Amino acid sequence: MRYSGLKVITEGLFGNKGWKPAWRDPAPKAEYDAVIIGGGGHGLSTAYYLAKNHGLRNIAVLEKGYLGSGNIGRNTTIVRANYFLPGNSEFYSHSLKLWEGLEAELNYNVMHSQRGLINLFHSDGQRDAFARRGNMMINQGDDAVLLDREGVRELLPYLDFDNTRFPIYGGLLHPRGGSARHDAVAWGYARGADRLGVDLIQNCEVTGIDIENGVVKGVQTTRGAIRAKKVGMVAAGRSGLVAAMAGMRLPVESHILQAFVTEGLKPVIDHVISFGMGHFYISQSDKGGLVFGGDLDFYASYAARGNLPMVEHVMEAGMTLMPMIGRAKVLRSWGGIMDMTPDGSPIIDKTNIEGLYLDCGWNYGGFKAVPASGWCMAHLMATDTPHEVAKRFRLDRFRTGQILDEEGTGSQHNLH
Ligand SMILES: Cc1cc2nc3c(=O)[nH]c(=O)nc-3n(C[C@H](O)[C@H](O)[C@H](O)COP(=O)(O)OP(=O)(O)OC[C@H]3O[C@@H](n4cnc5c(N)ncnc54)[C@H](O)[C@@H]3O)c2cc1C
Repeated sequence: MRYSGLKVITEGLFGNKGWKPAWRDPAPKAEYDAVIIGGGGHGLSTAYYLAKNHGLRNIAVLEKGYLGSGNIGRNTTIVRANYFLPGNSEFYSHSLKLWEGLEAELNYNVMHSQRGLINLFHSDGQRDAFARRGNMMINQGDDAVLLDREGVRELLPYLDFDNTRFPIYGGLLHPRGGSARHDAVAWGYARGADRLGVDLIQNCEVTGIDIENGVVKGVQTTRGAIRAKKVGMVAAGRSGLVAAMAGMRLPVESHILQAFVTEGLKPVIDHVISFGMGHFYISQSDKGGLVFGGDLDFYASYAARGNLPMVEHVMEAGMTLMPMIGRAKVLRSWGGIMDMTPDGSPIIDKTNIEGLYLDCGWNYGGFKAVPASGWCMAHLMATDTPHEVAKRFRLDRFRTGQILDEEGTGSQHNLH
């Protein structure tokens, strides 16, 4: 079924009885050409592009919960291509271009909104760093505008510009940055993959990876054994646990990141605002809720919920930046498990086991990467060679020293 405005109107007129489930609910087959572990954004987009770009049809995505139950449905939805380092910048640039055509590609409204992202700066030194980053973004073919203090005031008049600790000096505007509806991205890719014949198997936890003589043979799951010629590990916050099933120890720590949403308000924040010095960022959803978040919870955990000290910290940072936020009531908060690498950049690579591939290490920036990650992981799995824009995301860089430390902050996870 193709979705269209006409379809919405006719269904509305005739009782909405003609809608069909967006994807099938198949039983697992005994064997697939490719199995993807993890039905998050990256797993679903990998399956979609394996089918779409490389013509594979006998594919399964195995998800231990329901599709979209992980970070893909828990993030704060910022989409941007404002990276500095070669290796990262061309990858995220590619991703943003895929975002710009995603709704037409998937025939699904993912509510991608290029409302502009503004990164604030608070000192001369920070201004220089952002000017340099902006130039790199423009060199890469993306967009960036350096705003002075008055330029920011014109767009965001409600901020506290004269805060004693962090007076606002200006901001780097990334006009093509913005947001999208996170779970719609999972649903759109799921529906797209299903239409290309991919089996999406929910409530199917992978409990073991079968390897014989250094070659992957399949997986053990809570719904039985499944043979597979190729297996992709795309489990985000649980990547360490999944890779351990293949005897691997990843350079990844799992940390909690919380997010918050207020009651619905009339439109007040038109952009996405990032207040890096305070570890705070905010946007307003189409339903009116202010969506915001802050720093990691600072301890490794697999619990998808956070603790109160970080709630206090995030609220303080929000009040510092825009005191008016104190009038809004927080409606909900939640946490997700972040797969943090020591340099803050991801891994899309083969493993030392033939037929076993790895896509992880998305830190707290993997939502915007969903299209390009799937594109590049599918390329790797189908051709056994890294895609041009993802060739620096190697697993062995932590051994060779060719790391991609975007912020130059070393292995301090919350500063990536
Ligand atoms: C609060 C918060 C805010 C964020 N904000 C942003 C943002 O603004 N912009 C941005 O770009 N990124 C953001 N992120 C990061 C982004 O959400 C993640 O990097 C990205 O979603 C991770 O990839 P994924 O979607 O594939 O993960 P997930 O959705 O977590 O997918 C992994 C899936 O694997 C499944 N799985 C795990 N183990 C197994 C197993 N053994 N068997 C079967 N299935 C298994 C899990 O159940 C899960 O569904 C944020 C994250 C959080 C939590």
